[in-house]
Amino acid sequence: MRLVLVGPPGAGKGTQAQFLAAHYLIPHISTGDIFRANLKAGTPLGLQAKVFMDKGELVPDSVTNEMLKDRLTHGDVSNGFLLDGFPRNVAQAEVLRAILAEKKMPLDAVLEFSLANEEIVARLSSRRTCKDCFQPSVGVEKCPSCGGDVYQREDDKAEVIARRLEVYQEQTAPIVSFYRNEGLLITVGALGSVEDITAHAISALSRVSE
Ligand code: ADP
Ligand code: ZN
Repeated sequence: MRLVLVGPPGAGKGTQAQFLAAHYLIPHISTGDIFRANLKAGTPLGLQAKVFMDKGELVPDSVTNEMLKDRLTHGDVSNGFLLDGFPRNVAQAEVLRAILAEKKMPLDAVLEFSLANEEIVARLSSRRTCKDCFQPSVGVEKCPSCGGDVYQREDDKAEVIARRLEVYQEQTAPIVSFYRNEGLLITVGALGSVEDITAHAISALSRVSE
């Protein structure tokens, strides 16, 4: 299964990605997590990305595309993969299509999580993120997944959330039509329990491929 997840910040892509990756036994590739891991390790890539992330802006395509291209050379993608946070604009979607065409590994589906703006703001402002594994959670002091400490991401602060939503509408939402035109789009409502949403996603995907 070769899958892309799309949806506004706070729609639960990261959470659903973990479950879907485990279900299909495919690597979960989150560009946001790769940037955060680099920042934690203090690499030049991490420091470069931080400037944009903290403001809610996209990291420039030149940086992001190279990083993604490199990630897709790892052997673990031969059985499929789940991309979370990439592509985030039409130019990235075109780069991805070209990379995958060259590898003869076209996408099976693009899963869109849809959610109203008010709900997004409420979710993001109460969200905490694990310092060690980056798993998002709400209302906990330790990460439910690995027990690590949790913190509030710089870009989950109120001032930055508004900008991220604008960036989503202006730059990322157009990829939804792009993938609809390619016949790859599947939309799942992102309101409801985590388990129900995962179940809906898996049942919608079972109609596409295995
Ligand atoms: P969320 O889905 O919660 O908005 P992510 O963890 O996916 O957050 O991304 C956080 C930030 O990382 C983005 O706001 C952006 O600055 C940067 N980023 C992640 N993926 C990309 C991408 N494909 N292109 C450009 N910037 C990206
Ligand atoms: Zn953790």
